[in-house]
Amino acid sequence: MPEPSFEHEVAGVADRGLRRDRRRRPRHPLLDGVVSRIEVGREGSKDVALGEDPADLAVPEHDGGSDVTPAHDGGGFRDARGGFDGHEVGAHDVANGDHDLGEERSETRALTEALRAWFRPRRRRYPWRGATDPYAVLVSEVMLQQTQASRVAPAFERFLDRYTTVQDLARAPRDDVVRSWAGLGYNRRAVALSETARSLVEEHGGRVPRDPELLRRLPGIGAYTAAAVASLAFGEAVAALDTNVRRIVARVWAGRDAEEFAPADLRELAERWLDRDDPATWNQALMDLGREICRPHPRCDACPIAFGCRFLAEGAVPSPVPRKQGRFEGSSRQVRGAVVHALRRSGSSSLDAIARGTGFPSDRIREAVETLRRDGLVEAAPAALAGRPAGRVRLAR
Ligand code: SF4
Repeated sequence: MPEPSFEHEVAGVADRGLRRDRRRRPRHPLLDGVVSRIEVGREGSKDVALGEDPADLAVPEHDGGSDVTPAHDGGGFRDARGGFDGHEVGAHDVANGDHDLGEERSETRALTEALRAWFRPRRRRYPWRGATDPYAVLVSEVMLQQTQASRVAPAFERFLDRYTTVQDLARAPRDDVVRSWAGLGYNRRAVALSETARSLVEEHGGRVPRDPELLRRLPGIGAYTAAAVASLAFGEAVAALDTNVRRIVARVWAGRDAEEFAPADLRELAERWLDRDDPATWNQALMDLGREICRPHPRCDACPIAFGCRFLAEGAVPSPVPRKQGRFEGSSRQVRGAVVHALRRSGSSSLDAIARGTGFPSDRIREAVETLRRDGLVEAAPAALAGRPAGRVRLAR
């Protein structure tokens, strides 16, 4: 009994995804080719269907932008691919009865090596790259959650100069940390990072845990950040799946966009593809590739793994890019950012002074103060909570 090929396993994952799809809407025509090849390989099986202050409010890092030109002619590449673990068989070879495992291993290695080679010159591109201190990795990953790397770079160095250790950060008053967050936006992250540092000192002996499950219990740390920290700081073999990485995994191995898969299925594919010899490089390379090349409208002509990409080989068309955010101008986010910006400079201020200084109507300032208070960013005196113009507000300590 031959060992199940990678493609069979991909087919299983894709099967589950498509069955779910079928309940919602007709099968995507892109999948027909994939399904038919897999069906042949499965020897007659029929059940295979496969498959905040204006100056510092940042643009989300994973912004799904579309400032590049689609490059999908589908020509010039074959859908060559190897298995994730170096022992699987490509769909085209299953169909042809060609189980040359040696060839498949070399194809898998080629895909991984291409990714590594492409990443090599990027290894030192940012100040956090190559950091071995888990605290520094944690700080960088929290900053990168919603802010472009180019904006994170100077803020990261300033932040670590000021809070060199997790103990330094845990001891720091909350308002100092929020001031140090200037230029990054999404100031709630500063509060969460401050709470995380205190939790690390109180519950983990001042050390960042290497277990992603423990990391996820820290304030403001989700599955992606936990996996990124575990992988980058400790070399744990875990895939850090953000929107960009999910997109690449779905395109390369299933020829479809990620929206067509259940997250658990994509995680399964990613974990099988993960380079267990060097998971940190694999994760960072895919993050960069998704940010720079395999964007919603991909630049396949510049892609180092184009030779192994089913999406390109099949001439697939990218899904429409959803608008992720509403207008910033006049939004609650803008007003909140303006309030925090005013308080960073003044220390404390009245509602009326903030309204005059920012130019926003006093009712919107009151609303913003209330939500900022709930998020732990500001403290408001009773008069401010009652909406009186002279009521004073300050950054939380
Ligand atoms: S992985 Fe590369 S070849 Fe495939 S869709 Fe993305 S940019 Fe294009």
